[in-house]
Amino acid sequence: MIRRVDFTLSSEQELIRESAREFCEREIQPFARDWDRAEELPRELVGKLAGAGFLAASLPEELGGGGLDSVSYTLLCEELGRADSSVRGIVSVSNGLFGKTVAKWGTPDQREAWLPPLASGEALGCYALTEPGCGSDAAALALRAERDGEGWALTGSKVFITLGSWASVAIVFARTGGEGPRGITAFLVPTDAEGFEARPMKGKLGLRAQDTAELSLDGVRVPDSARLGDEGQGFKVAMSALDNGRISLAAGCVGIAQGCLETSVAYAREREAFKRPIAGFQLVQELLAEMHVDTEAARLLTWRAAALADAGKPYTTEAAVAKWFASEASVRAANAAVQVLGGYGYVDEYPVAKYLRDARVTTLYEGTSQIQKLIVGRALTGESAFA
Ligand SMILES: Cc1cc2nc3c(=O)[nH]c(=O)nc-3n(C[C@H](O)[C@H](O)[C@H](O)COP(=O)(O)OP(=O)(O)OC[C@H]3O[C@@H](n4cnc5c(N)ncnc54)[C@H](O)[C@@H]3O)c2cc1C
Repeated sequence: MIRRVDFTLSSEQELIRESAREFCEREIQPFARDWDRAEELPRELVGKLAGAGFLAASLPEELGGGGLDSVSYTLLCEELGRADSSVRGIVSVSNGLFGKTVAKWGTPDQREAWLPPLASGEALGCYALTEPGCGSDAAALALRAERDGEGWALTGSKVFITLGSWASVAIVFARTGGEGPRGITAFLVPTDAEGFEARPMKGKLGLRAQDTAELSLDGVRVPDSARLGDEGQGFKVAMSALDNGRISLAAGCVGIAQGCLETSVAYAREREAFKRPIAGFQLVQELLAEMHVDTEAARLLTWRAAALADAGKPYTTEAAVAKWFASEASVRAANAAVQVLGGYGYVDEYPVAKYLRDARVTTLYEGTSQIQKLIVGRALTGESAFA
């Protein structure tokens, strides 16, 4: 048995991980398969996540948050990813894509309006960047915000928005100027505003229980005080959110890989073929050993990005490295886990089939693996392949 030695964690961080695991094993894991089959999460879960302090775990305490450092927050996301990625996504969007973005770029009034209700689970937020016509090339977005008296009128659509139909408020990235990143501005748009419509998207390969929605905005009016950051600064707002989101996503992927490893090792020790446990076969051990090394490497890369964030140092490239490696590692681990479990890996009696389906999106969203490679390539060469 490999002894787990996480020498960089404090005893407080170990405690955070243990209590997160205890919550997940009680409130999430026993139900994850049924939620996946039903393609729906119960709304009461939001209250439970809020009660456990997860929705704003990494936000400042004075804004109702838990004040967790980034490394501790990755421990929480890992446990959630191990339990159910649909739930992990709610926590990641709430803390990273929405919460930290409002905390960083918002005015005192905006923070006061949206962050305490987020922490208490009264009002979820979502992050609406992707459009039907552009995802990777986000700087080409077309949703338009026109000046309308003292305020703005927003018209256009967004697609694949996590929590799009559950959220009370959306960070909507809109074009207020000319082409390219400098023509983009971010707005905090209440989802009950006139002209705002959210339609749930069903039939996903994975994250089936999680709310994903298409948004359409038809002349939605907001005051100028709804602007998040300065006019023309929206692309910077969007990218800073992704730096945070990628760390928690990478941590969720570590959780998937860890769950695959634990399930596979336990199964391999029990299951017999040719009159001996399959764990004794070298080719099965190879699958397990590769999963183990992938999981450990992904975890350390994730912690490094988080530690840089905690130290107040730049972490864009390290977050991209962690997200790229951990997402690909989670897909490899889930695929290998299905192999170890044979036919039982292909049905949802065990969690590995769902791990594979849930892992698959992680190499796509918050920037595809190709986009992460271009971020790393830009850091290495000083040349941007995006321009
Ligand atoms: C379940 C789910 C949840 C999501 N949640 C959100 C959310 O909450 N908010 C949000 O804004 N978005 C969300 N997204 C959208 C997601 O971020 C995009 O799908 C993703 O960024 C890819 O964009 P795209 O789908 O338009 O693919 P495209 O950009 O069209 O890419 C298609 C292919 O082309 C490749 N490609 C594109 N450009 C390059 C290049 N320069 N070099 C090499 N290859 C390239 C890509 O890597 C990919 O393989 C979500 C998506 C899913 C599936």
